[in-house]
Amino acid sequence: MKLKIVKGTRDLYGADIKKFQFIEDKCRKIFNLYGYSEIRTPVLENTELFARGVGEDTDIVGKEMYSLQDRRGRSLTLRPEGTASVVRHVITNTLMNQNKSVKYFYIGPMFRYEQPQKGRYRQFYQIGVEYFGVPTPDADLEMMLMLQQLFNEINLKSVSFQINTIGCQNENCRPQFKKNLVTYLKERSNTLCTDCQRRMENNPLRVLDCKNPTCKEITKSAPKIHEEVCEDCKTDFSELKSLLDAHEVIYDVNEKLVRGLDYYSKTVFEVYSENLGAQSAAGGGGRYDGLFEIYGAPTVPAVGFALGLDRLVLLMDEGTPTENNVFVVGKDRKAVCKLVDECRQAGYSTIYDPFLSSMKSQFRQANKTNSRVVLVLGEDEIANGNVSVKDMKNSEQNIIPVQSLKTSLFEVFGF
Ligand code: AMP
Repeated sequence: MKLKIVKGTRDLYGADIKKFQFIEDKCRKIFNLYGYSEIRTPVLENTELFARGVGEDTDIVGKEMYSLQDRRGRSLTLRPEGTASVVRHVITNTLMNQNKSVKYFYIGPMFRYEQPQKGRYRQFYQIGVEYFGVPTPDADLEMMLMLQQLFNEINLKSVSFQINTIGCQNENCRPQFKKNLVTYLKERSNTLCTDCQRRMENNPLRVLDCKNPTCKEITKSAPKIHEEVCEDCKTDFSELKSLLDAHEVIYDVNEKLVRGLDYYSKTVFEVYSENLGAQSAAGGGGRYDGLFEIYGAPTVPAVGFALGLDRLVLLMDEGTPTENNVFVVGKDRKAVCKLVDECRQAGYSTIYDPFLSSMKSQFRQANKTNSRVVLVLGEDEIANGNVSVKDMKNSEQNIIPVQSLKTSLFEVFGF
């Protein structure tokens, strides 16, 4: 049998996994600052959850889901996105009966059957945030402030947002806009691409973000949704814009931004960084006040976003992160193991060469592993209860009594 990894999936290890952990740690810290707690939902859900929530007409449900039948013939799906599961959790645990608002974030793998390429995988990782119960635009603002803080902390340059409003389900809002759009498109339907001819019937808003040059040209003069939504949606959108201005968040209104998923309403946004190419967003989100109703639950206002972790990692600076660890060098196994244990107990990440190779080889390994401090236990040191401490940054070396080691490491590391 020839062992091979499944197409579009990959093992994460080495420098990559360090970058994943770095971003995840920042997210956990920042989301906590804003009052969000972590939720881990199952990777496997009933297919119906996504078919209904994400929408039958989307690429995700139509072409990209990994669905399977279990032994009892039930249709299950590897989750292609995170929102539907969090909403299922809130509904089945009747959380909105007990709380006026609920805040969750999640980090984990998602699965979509897409053509793999750089930055696009069949198993990829998303970080997402969901805020339930608050209808006012300060909740939308909070999404963007968190993203801005995160991007700053992971050193992505010049964060900017594209925003739009796609209105609500009131008769005189999105439904009316859709009718106007379809009338406009029908007059030009023979020049639309074949996908858009189908979309025009099933999901006309998606024609607006088609990448085909002819469709782009046609939609340039199409009706603009943010100009045609109802008065309530217009007021919310201008309130959001003035909040963003007050917080000095940089954004552009993009009238063609509709986002791929069916469940959005009112605000939609995508987030970009200067480090990204012109087209690809690091993530996006929006308001989805209508999703609970789709599942037969009472309406709950909700807003959220999802970021592609794999893409953020691609954007981060190359280079091995420095490791603040200790390498213990010596030939006496008992003494080496004892000292390694003391360092680890004191809170320093510590390694040694279990093969106790030549001293020269052990020093080479200390260099290779980027160790900040090398502790040397030669025969003389052991005989006198000492240890030699070498700071690899400035090559300073001191022989000190083992009892003073903690103080000495504290001086180097500051913790
Ligand atoms: P979406 O749920 O489609 O709005 O995706 C949100 C973010 O997830 C995107 O902006 C991407 O950064 C990321 N993403 C979506 N699909 C993939 C994929 N197949 N591989 C890697 N990242 C992805």
